[in-house]
Amino acid sequence: MLNLVLFGAPGSGKGTQSAKIIDQYGLYHISTGEVLRDHIARGTELGKIADTYISKGQLIPDDLMIRILEDVLDNEASDKKGVVFDGFPRTIPQAVALNEMLTKRGSDLHAVIGLEVPEEELIERMLNRGKETGRADDNPETIKNRLEVYHNQTQPLQDFYKNEGKYIPINGSGLVDEIFDEISAGVEKATGILRRSRK
Ligand code: AMP
Repeated sequence: MLNLVLFGAPGSGKGTQSAKIIDQYGLYHISTGEVLRDHIARGTELGKIADTYISKGQLIPDDLMIRILEDVLDNEASDKKGVVFDGFPRTIPQAVALNEMLTKRGSDLHAVIGLEVPEEELIERMLNRGKETGRADDNPETIKNRLEVYHNQTQPLQDFYKNEGKYIPINGSGLVDEIFDEISAGVEKATGILRRSRK
């Protein structure tokens, strides 16, 4: 098993880099944002609850989010070689819960890849994504709230994972492929696992 967390502010490129990581290492991708947006699109009860938080740029409450994640882990990812967690954890209680969930399943979290991008660039990327994809929470007001929530509730996780010796800082500005090469080198150094193929 190889379990990785892709960590970073909204707009830092977690989704883009996740796609490359799962391709290269044969892992399963869990994006909690995508799971929630899928529920919203299908109009489920959970989607209705999630929408009230997402549209304001707030986090879904920890107990609900942890239950959703555990459900996906057991129903979709249990037979996989490992998981890339994208957008989870976002709070200290979520990080503690993830450690417990993995330990309970005889596994472990191997590395946390931190995509570090200056704030002006994050805002520009999200505004562009909003125009290109129509993603509802990529609007100026909600972006402002999401960045504030990130600084207050999510950024403290950097120290949490630094203390666990798992945090790998990555310069998330620049070309997608160059950033990915840096991620691969960091993961390989931390875990000793080699990419399936080198392009
Ligand atoms: P993302 O696609 O990761 O940027 O997530 C979009 C939105 O979904 C966030 O702004 C939150 O409202 C919600 N969300 C996603 N993941 C989490 C999480 N781990 N905890 C709480 N809320 C989340």
